[in-house]
Amino acid sequence: MKHLTPRTLLYLTIDIFFLVACLYQVQYLLGRPSIPFVLDQHGKAIVIERVVNQPAAGGLVKGDTLLAFAGVSIESPFDADFLADYRSIEETVALSYYHDGSAKTTYVELVPYFRTRYAVVSLLVGLLTWLLGVFVLVVRPRELTASVLHAALVSLAFSVMCMWGATPRGDPWILVSRTMYFVMYMGAAAHFLFFTTLFPRPLAPVTARRVVLLYAPGAIVAVVAMAVHLYSVWYSSLEDYRVFRILFHLFHATILPYVGLGIWNFIRSYKATVRPEEKKKLQWLLWGLAIGPAPFLLLETLPELFVPISPVPEEYTLIFFLLIPVSFAVSFVRYHLLDIQVVINRTTVYGIVLSILILAYVLLVGFVSYLVGSYSIESSAGGAVLIALAFEPFRRKVQHIVDRKFFRIRYDFRLAQRKFAEEMRMHPDTGPLASFLTGQIQKLIPLQTAAFCSIRQDGKEFILLDELPRRRLDQFPDFLSQATAWGSTFRPVAVTGMIETGIPHEAADQRSFDAWGIAIVFPFHAKGGELLGAMALGPKKSGARFSSEDVDLLASVTSQAGLEAERIALQQEILRKEAEAMRQKELNELKSEFVSYVSHEFRTPLTSIKMFAELLANHGRVRGEKSREFLHVIEGEADRLDRMVTTILDSAKIEKGVKLYRFVELDLADVVRDMLQTMEYQLKKENFTVQTNGLASSRRYLVRADRDATLEALINLLSNAIKYSEKKKWIKVALSIDGSWVRCSILDRGRGIPAEVLPRVFEKYYRVPTGSFEIEGVGLGLSLVRSIMEAHGGRIEAASTPGGGSAFHLLFPWKRPRARRVRKRRASRGGGRVPRAG
Ligand code: ADP
Repeated sequence: MKHLTPRTLLYLTIDIFFLVACLYQVQYLLGRPSIPFVLDQHGKAIVIERVVNQPAAGGLVKGDTLLAFAGVSIESPFDADFLADYRSIEETVALSYYHDGSAKTTYVELVPYFRTRYAVVSLLVGLLTWLLGVFVLVVRPRELTASVLHAALVSLAFSVMCMWGATPRGDPWILVSRTMYFVMYMGAAAHFLFFTTLFPRPLAPVTARRVVLLYAPGAIVAVVAMAVHLYSVWYSSLEDYRVFRILFHLFHATILPYVGLGIWNFIRSYKATVRPEEKKKLQWLLWGLAIGPAPFLLLETLPELFVPISPVPEEYTLIFFLLIPVSFAVSFVRYHLLDIQVVINRTTVYGIVLSILILAYVLLVGFVSYLVGSYSIESSAGGAVLIALAFEPFRRKVQHIVDRKFFRIRYDFRLAQRKFAEEMRMHPDTGPLASFLTGQIQKLIPLQTAAFCSIRQDGKEFILLDELPRRRLDQFPDFLSQATAWGSTFRPVAVTGMIETGIPHEAADQRSFDAWGIAIVFPFHAKGGELLGAMALGPKKSGARFSSEDVDLLASVTSQAGLEAERIALQQEILRKEAEAMRQKELNELKSEFVSYVSHEFRTPLTSIKMFAELLANHGRVRGEKSREFLHVIEGEADRLDRMVTTILDSAKIEKGVKLYRFVELDLADVVRDMLQTMEYQLKKENFTVQTNGLASSRRYLVRADRDATLEALINLLSNAIKYSEKKKWIKVALSIDGSWVRCSILDRGRGIPAEVLPRVFEKYYRVPTGSFEIEGVGLGLSLVRSIMEAHGGRIEAASTPGGGSAFHLLFPWKRPRARRVRKRRASRGGGRVPRAG
């Protein structure tokens, strides 16, 4: 209790003092005498409406008109109350009355004004309300709103407990207790109105002037009414008491607008509130405040303005006052009114709810019996048996309702936790695991978004595995940079306003979280403590804060998910290693295959070279035309060998990243011509018809390229066209300008490539399986062409029809000739326009 301020301690002392005063007042309540009748006023006549106690009534019956009490003439039923108050119970007094047109006098015995039942109910209601007021003060000692609520609750408690009692002449306690009554009664109403201007949000700034204006009307009316009351009571002056009765109507008439305005304020706040959590908070209070005092105001206060007796005994209306503390208690437990965290265990809630219901039940039966006749439930054995029989199923029902209403979240969450744990184990990959988690969480606590991501502590890797219902967290680079800081915390990182108070957490950087649409993040770690990832959740759709149950569940689910993610990562690592081993094995096989291919490939041209060289050497007769032809063959085959070696060496260079290019500006048409010249021998040998397009014109196809690499790429394509054409020996080489590209196309009418493997022909060592293997080749050509094109900022495209031929296109970025140069060239050709002077 060390947070209690001296002011709070002072308030508490006053609270306790008044409580003791109220308990002291009980003897006065129980000792208050009354004539044994309920009176009513018919015009000027005071008529007996009901005889409360027959033996004490001295022969008076319903319908008799009272004239005087111990010689003092009576003008209203209140006069009789006032006069009786100075006497004591069981005392006899002389009453004059009219019966059947004749005036008579008789002695009646005074009976207790309040039944014990009334005292018990008012004390119970008062005590509960008092306790609640003290509770609010103790848990929020520094808040004005809580202090005002405290004042309203304890004043209400005292005005309920501190009713008027007996008035022994000259007893100063009377002055104390009556003063307390007036101050507390009006005070409760005024404090309540003040509270509604502060809660849930201040309607206007609190200024001394406003506070004075708020309290002044009530204070003035209360002081005047109280002064006249005290004077009349102390001096036993019936005339002054009659004046007071008129003022008392005014007093009541002032209380009604206070309460009405207060409820009006709440309704206004309720309408202005957007957050559902706050709305629910207010709903409970509104119900409590509307229903609680309503029966008392409607059945006691209001009728008293018009008729002298209220239609219902006061204790039955009083019991409804209990709804005020009950509705506040509900607000505390469920919606943390004023942010007070209440740890009330289930048993206490069952207990409170049950006692209230039983009390209400007993009173209800009592009320019915009061309406029916003199049957009383307290003394009825039948009633007791009924309650006992009904109690067990009733108790279970109440427990069930309390569980569902107050503790449902915990109840559902236990089940959810088990389900999560079981199902998480079944996911083989982090993707499906993430989808499962976000989906389940969304089902359990509808959120604006739920994202599951993996993060590495070095801050280099962030993978958004799943985000429901949108996918945008990976668009924020600062998410990753902040995420690395969460590696060191095992607590949730949350925007403080998004979770209920008292839940341990790391304060989030609110601006970033708002930008991402995230309210709370749960980091998860590997067994060794290394950050593995995080669950990032948006605000609840309901607008409510994350409760401690939510946070507990989400934290435990996230840490389980972390362990699962670690398990999955380990499994994948094993699989990756296995796959790597497989790849190594395949590569080794490929290499040995490659070596055997290469030896085979080399042997064919080498055999030709050797054969023709031997012919030339051994047969000196081979001369003239024949010998030139043989030399031509040897040269062609040597060139082929050279090309093969170049392709292999260049592939190796590219693979190692050591291939160097020498980029110069050149005309692609020149390179194409070189290619045709180089391949002339082979084309002739194979009897190909070569068609060209775009070469004849003087048009230039300027590109920035490495001459040798470009020639190599073109020769590779042309060699393939030759190799893979069987019957239709036709090839077309075309050059064109295509937008900002120079396009060089090599088309054939050969065997073609099936569509499903067409993209794969650019892979290293890949050869189309059907029929390629009887044709020489190692599967390196096209991959080399592609690498060359990439190095030139260009690309290779292919289109093919199996059995119909293929088309390979090389696209180089076009180096558009600069305008000046074009003009100069045109001018030199005589086609240029002479710029006009001026
Ligand atoms: P290689 O020709 O040495 O096998 P490439 O990388 O040059 O290797 O070609 C890969 C595969 O693509 C060849 O094995 C062949 O199956 C197919 N291919 C390439 N060019 C053509 C073409 N013009 N017509 C049909 N198939 C072709």
